Amino acid sequence: MKRRHFLGAATALGAGAFLSPQAFANSRTPARVVIVGGGWGGLSAARYLREFAPQLEVTLLERNASFWSCPLSNHWLVGRVDGALLSHDYRAAAQRWGYRFVQAEVSQIDRDARLVVTEAERIAYDWLVLAVGIRHDYAAWFGADHDTIAYTRQHYPSAYTPGAEFPRLRDKLTEFKGGDLLMTIPPQPFRCPPAPYERAVMIAGWLEQRKVPGRLIILDANPPFQEFQRVFREHFPKRIEYHTQMKIVAVDPRRRTVECEFDSFGFDEAILIPPQQAASLAWQADLIGRDENSRPGGWAAVDPLSFAARRDARVFMVGDMIDRVSSLFGHYPKSGQMASRQGRIVARQIAARAAGAAAPLELPDSLCHITTQFDPPAALRIAASYRLRGDGELIQQTKTQRDPQPRGEDLAWAQGMFREFLAP
Ligand SMILES: Cc1cc2nc3c(=O)[nH]c(=O)nc-3n(C[C@H](O)[C@H](O)[C@H](O)COP(=O)(O)OP(=O)(O)OC[C@H]3O[C@@H](n4cnc5c(N)ncnc54)[C@H](O)[C@@H]3O)c2cc1C
Repeated sequence: MKRRHFLGAATALGAGAFLSPQAFANSRTPARVVIVGGGWGGLSAARYLREFAPQLEVTLLERNASFWSCPLSNHWLVGRVDGALLSHDYRAAAQRWGYRFVQAEVSQIDRDARLVVTEAERIAYDWLVLAVGIRHDYAAWFGADHDTIAYTRQHYPSAYTPGAEFPRLRDKLTEFKGGDLLMTIPPQPFRCPPAPYERAVMIAGWLEQRKVPGRLIILDANPPFQEFQRVFREHFPKRIEYHTQMKIVAVDPRRRTVECEFDSFGFDEAILIPPQQAASLAWQADLIGRDENSRPGGWAAVDPLSFAARRDARVFMVGDMIDRVSSLFGHYPKSGQMASRQGRIVARQIAARAAGAAAPLELPDSLCHITTQFDPPAALRIAASYRLRGDGELIQQTKTQRDPQPRGEDLAWAQGMFREFLAP
């Protein structure tokens, strides 16, 4: 019997009746936590659950065979870091921290029966952690034209979620011999807002270094990112054409054109990043927040401090999938460190509930090292921290520092994070 099937059989069905938190504390059967998504949020939840509540049975489900880090992937795309730094073994991490890992795509959450459904099995949970990240809203460009969506994914990958699109984009860049390379930047909110600009700097610098006669055309749906606008202007005046506040009205990947409200663009090669939303499982589980007219807003609704789903106290959600949490600052930053911190907070929440106790207040934080110049390198350090005001309002403080002489801080940060939730 394969390990995955054995593990599945051990946890399948027989969900058991509802137990109160106190009953959990007294029960001899270990309560079951199922985590879906082995990214920054899910892996951190799994690791800290084992530390904070070793009596709980923890299962992590992930569709990919190995972990892939989006942070530093822009450097990898142009050969500046080794893939071995970014790719990690899930089974080694599970063994190190002592939880079960099952490689499987979760197709359905049955919240009434408290079951997670994959092709091979149905796994019961007492608490569920969803850390499934984002999905691309290609429907905003192509409606229900699934052929064109598949064509776009295949030919113009965004490389914005862990998986096969990264090597595909790298191959395309390597084969790019010149002409117009177009990149779209989606409207906020989206995963790691500085990342597409960093990618632009990497690609432009790399084309320059290899003397490829190519030009990068950026269609940004947002107002200008000033730091990068300056870099593009000063360092790549001939390489980068930066258009801001571009509202895309039509994309034709076969004819290689993008039509905006007031202008049209052709391209030879492209990185087409469409608008983003919470990943599909949050939609299937009916956990998406709604606006004042009851229309789904696109992101998963949680309590900003406990990360419990607004619609189900048995479900916690962390990372890039979650909705805005504040009328003052909107969304938590959609960053790896933020997802990881939220995973740790949720582990504490579940551990406390399992013990019939209240969880201590813990607020997340975020830190991002973003490369702004190719050669000589320069970087931005963007930090966000949080506090509760006297009236209970959550306050965000952000600090952006220029680092004109980075010395591997980004690598050191990533390696520190990986040590926290993987087995590097
Ligand atoms: C190019 C780029 C550069 C970035 N740089 C930085 C940086 O420098 N610093 C930083 O802090 N952040 C950075 N980020 C952002 C960071 O990658 C994300 O914030 C982080 O990955 C969010 O973690 P998550 O757990 O929410 O989602 P993810 O890491 O995407 O994990 C979600 C996981 O869920 C799995 N999954 C989804 N649905 C299912 C399903 N139905 N069944 C099974 N598995 C499923 C996915 O396969 C995936 O592994 C960058 C992102 C990009 C794209």
